Amino acid sequence: MKKKKIVVIYTGGTIGSLPNDSGLLRPERSQIMEDSIRDYLSGIESLGVKIGEIGVLPEFEFTAIERPFDSSDLDPKHWDVLGAKLFNEIQKSDIDGAVVLHGTDTLAYTASALAFMIEGLHLLNKTVVVTGAQLSFFETRSDAKNQLISAILLASNSRLREVVVYFDNRVLRACRTTKSDSFSFNAFDSPNFPELAHFGVTLSEHPTARFSSRAWNVDLTRRFTNGTRIQFYNFRNRIYRIGVLKIFPGISENTINSFFSEYDALVIEGYGAGNGPIGHEGFLRALNNGIHIRKKPAVIVTQCVRGSVSFDYSTSLEGVGLINGRDMTTEAAVTKLHYLLSKYGPEMEKVRSRFDHDLIGEVTIPNHLVEEIELN
Ligand code: ASP
Repeated sequence: MKKKKIVVIYTGGTIGSLPNDSGLLRPERSQIMEDSIRDYLSGIESLGVKIGEIGVLPEFEFTAIERPFDSSDLDPKHWDVLGAKLFNEIQKSDIDGAVVLHGTDTLAYTASALAFMIEGLHLLNKTVVVTGAQLSFFETRSDAKNQLISAILLASNSRLREVVVYFDNRVLRACRTTKSDSFSFNAFDSPNFPELAHFGVTLSEHPTARFSSRAWNVDLTRRFTNGTRIQFYNFRNRIYRIGVLKIFPGISENTINSFFSEYDALVIEGYGAGNGPIGHEGFLRALNNGIHIRKKPAVIVTQCVRGSVSFDYSTSLEGVGLINGRDMTTEAAVTKLHYLLSKYGPEMEKVRSRFDHDLIGEVTIPNHLVEEIELN
């Protein structure tokens, strides 16, 4: 049987880092990373033992972005460069899937951005796996080796036709993922959506969460450009400035005003189910000013680790004109705004009506609202 082939795209991060002269971790050059990965995998292959159903390593091509970086240095323009590279590779007929190696700090933003930008990925029947590591590939007890091998096997075998995050045996929908632990190997979570698959002795894919299923009221094959073609939506047309503002006790009117003047659109992390200090005149004045006078789109999500915006309380921010981000992660809300603003422009009502659609499985729309929203 012909061996499968995948592409590995290295961007930097701890997974490829070694200490610099001051002992601080810095991403290594791509050649060093490529050689080390090839040596390691060929060492494993030479043992010739295939354990479990999907133990056959595919062939792989290695490529990298020009200057590997620590993902804390990520800027939205990196998404264009990486997305274009990934899009180019994943369309090749001899490539069965892709693995992106990325720093963990902003991995969830990048994974989510790629999921929005590559429209119609499901049509290719290929899986894009974004992964990283908590310890460098070059450290003795690093998690990087498991991440790498499992991500490669996943990319070459999975029937998930979307961008996923692989970390510590868990396969998570990219646009549902957030970094939840800076210390543990189990560093990522999908707080409001189940794992898509899990690596144990074998790989178990969660049958109802698969991309094309109607579970969760999401028939994703219909999304994007009539669902008929794959294309890359490039943010460079214009990269908007999207800010994130977390509400906290004592937040000042000036803080909110300055966020609205600095950014083209905001994601506001409210308390609990979408609440804020509405008893404070200055707070409401600043929100009204930003949303109704400056006409800047502002999405509300919850600052809780899990759960959704539901506007149940007298302190809810429902009446203020915020766009309901429901159970989205902040990362998904930010990247969805980048995507929608650069595609359709910053006009509030356009953004509002499109934001309320589930585009790639990033949000749970309550049953009774699905039809109403679809018709709009
Ligand atoms: N600062 C690193 C990065 O995000 C952390 C990591 O990769 O784990 O690139």
